[in-house]
Amino acid sequence: MEITDIPVEGYERVVRARDPESGLHALIAVHDTTLGPALGGMRMWTYASEDEALTDVLRLSKGMTYKSAVAHTGLGGGKSVILGDPKQIKSEALFLAMGRFIDSLGGKYITAEDVNITVPDLETVRRSTRYVSGLSREDGGSGNPSPYTAYGVFLGLKAACAWKFGTEELKGRKVSVQGVGATGSELVRRLVEQGAEVWISDPNSERVQSLVDRYGVTAVEADAIYGLDVDVFAPCALGAILNDKTIPQLKAKVIAGVANNVLHEPRHGHELFQREILYAPDYVINAGGIINVSVEFHEGGYDQDVALKKIERIDDALQEIWKISEEQKIPASEAADHLAESILAEGRSS
Ligand code: NAD
Repeated sequence: MEITDIPVEGYERVVRARDPESGLHALIAVHDTTLGPALGGMRMWTYASEDEALTDVLRLSKGMTYKSAVAHTGLGGGKSVILGDPKQIKSEALFLAMGRFIDSLGGKYITAEDVNITVPDLETVRRSTRYVSGLSREDGGSGNPSPYTAYGVFLGLKAACAWKFGTEELKGRKVSVQGVGATGSELVRRLVEQGAEVWISDPNSERVQSLVDRYGVTAVEADAIYGLDVDVFAPCALGAILNDKTIPQLKAKVIAGVANNVLHEPRHGHELFQREILYAPDYVINAGGIINVSVEFHEGGYDQDVALKKIERIDDALQEIWKISEEQKIPASEAADHLAESILAEGRSS
């Protein structure tokens, strides 16, 4: 296998692997390890070019640094991408080679699940490196992160209600949820249990019907979710959904959901701020999963109680961000970045 460094300013290490035998073509970006080893998922994607893959891995790894800093996971930020079509290139040899590639960084990068990568894929990677996280409980891992992510978002959503409406009470609160997959459906369950009135949208009609039958929530068409007369909008599906087209439709006064990169561009954070819509920054409110995984590394083995206690501190981080946002009159999205940067600066100087 040929491993080559790609120098990138602002990143600790970026490396490329090419392995003709297994067909592996992959990149790993270690953005920052000031606060601990760089943990971030492994993504497999049909990129149009290596440049496109590089842009993706750089953006994602930096995002992980900020996310882990604000969540106080004791981890840094990294990410890896494997170039190719998952339907065609997946093989035992490829994942074993990826494990050797990860191992060559000596623990600076720890991998986890991401788009198009499954737990069985990671189990193969694990045979050639120990720097793999998020495996099943039976294998000593922290298991499926989604319920933990959803729990953190639920707590963050309540904190946002307390900040905006003066009470975290959800009884009678109107909430719309876009996407009811692994995390969205769990969020819906918790909201309904607390007496919230819930609207949902999802192209997966089976999932929608099962929640309608189970919890009496109301289903709406995809585009109708933005303009509903609700208190809270919880995006739990796609990125970039807060944009020039959707923001003017919003009646919700709080945005608190699971989905990553929901702001189409940074200026949409300003747009929400100007409209006095309270935004719970995505990478802060959705950190429950990474917090859960981080417990694998710091507590001498996974301990659910420790993980839950840490997840319960997500609302403290959000309150700190909204306070910065109010005091400095800047959008919450910007305040979150400032907080992450100040935590990193403190880490560097200590
Ligand atoms: P998932 O794939 O289980 O569910 C996503 C759901 O969104 C699916 O049911 C899908 O049908 C639906 N969907 C797709 N397009 C839609 C649309 N236009 N309108 C409404 N619904 C649509 O994913 P998940 O694990 O629940 O994660 C949801 C989002 O949160 C993703 O963006 C993910 O990257 C992010 N996230 C997840 C976690 C986690 O722990 N699972 C952690 C952090 C961030």
